[in-house]
Amino acid sequence: ATPTALLAATGRGAQLGVLVSGPRALETLRHVDTVVLDKTGTLTTGHMTVTQVTAAPDGLGRDAVLRLAGAVERGSEHPLGRAITSYARQEPAGRELPEVTEFRARPGWGVRGVVEGRLVEVCSPGGEGGGAVGGPDGLPDSLARALADAEAAARTVVLVRVDGVVEAVVAVGDVLRAGSYRAVDRLRRLGVEPVLATGDRAATAHAVAAELGISEVHARCAPEDKAELVGQLRARGRRVAVLGDGVNDAAALARADLGIAMGCGSDAAIGAADVTLAAGDIGAAAVAVRLARRTLATIR
Ligand code: ADP
Ligand code: MG
Repeated sequence: ATPTALLAATGRGAQLGVLVSGPRALETLRHVDTVVLDKTGTLTTGHMTVTQVTAAPDGLGRDAVLRLAGAVERGSEHPLGRAITSYARQEPAGRELPEVTEFRARPGWGVRGVVEGRLVEVCSPGGEGGGAVGGPDGLPDSLARALADAEAAARTVVLVRVDGVVEAVVAVGDVLRAGSYRAVDRLRRLGVEPVLATGDRAATAHAVAAELGISEVHARCAPEDKAELVGQLRARGRRVAVLGDGVNDAAALARADLGIAMGCGSDAAIGAADVTLAAGDIGAAAVAVRLARRTLATIR
């Protein structure tokens, strides 16, 4: 590849919303055959909103639980946390959120803190109620049903536990980016196989994958699991690009043959990537692959 042609391609890429770190990235991009896609903030907008709150029967009640959950999530930078806090603040009971001590956030799990002497956890349902209804560690029927319905509708669901007792199931929704379906479809037509990798649970992940026609799905991935998945795919001879936006995608982006970050993503993701797409333009991922192939094919 002549330097002039690569330079021209780099410039053309910039016009099309594809910022390439250097000529080597274009060379790698040309041979990519697999793309590992993050869900939240990449395929979806990442602007999350609470869609439903289901309080436990005979518990503290919806208002009290939202107030506690909103307070603890105030310390979180996760889109889920922001959604829950702003939702709680819209309720009369949440206008003044109480103080939180001993706050801790665990990535890929959730948050906890002490509020008014009670331990409040807002977190992933884990093994609980994952289809199994009732039982000592399970959820009351009404909560288990709310959880299953919300996940089938592609929502992310978190539990609010107060002093170890599940007091509510909160469903949080986020919409697919307008360009996601087309982007995935175009990548596939270019021979690039899409793989979904998300921290969300299986039911939610499969519901989103079904909307996009993605058949390979990896759910409940911690950041290191995403990176491990990339390593495994590469070991099988695949040429792997990762497309992500979050701090939790940085390790996978770095481990890929080629990392692609959403321009609207975190500094950690952009820093770890070889290619950055303009803002939220996921369609630019397919444009980038086509550009690399076309440019480099003509300069043989
Ligand atoms: P993703 O890959 O979809 O961005 P994350 O790794 O950020 O997912 O989070 C995975 C899961 O951890 C979430 O689906 C949620 O169950 C839980 N979680 C993470 N952060 C929070 C939070 N601040 N509050 C409640 N739950 C959280
Ligand atoms: Mg993300």
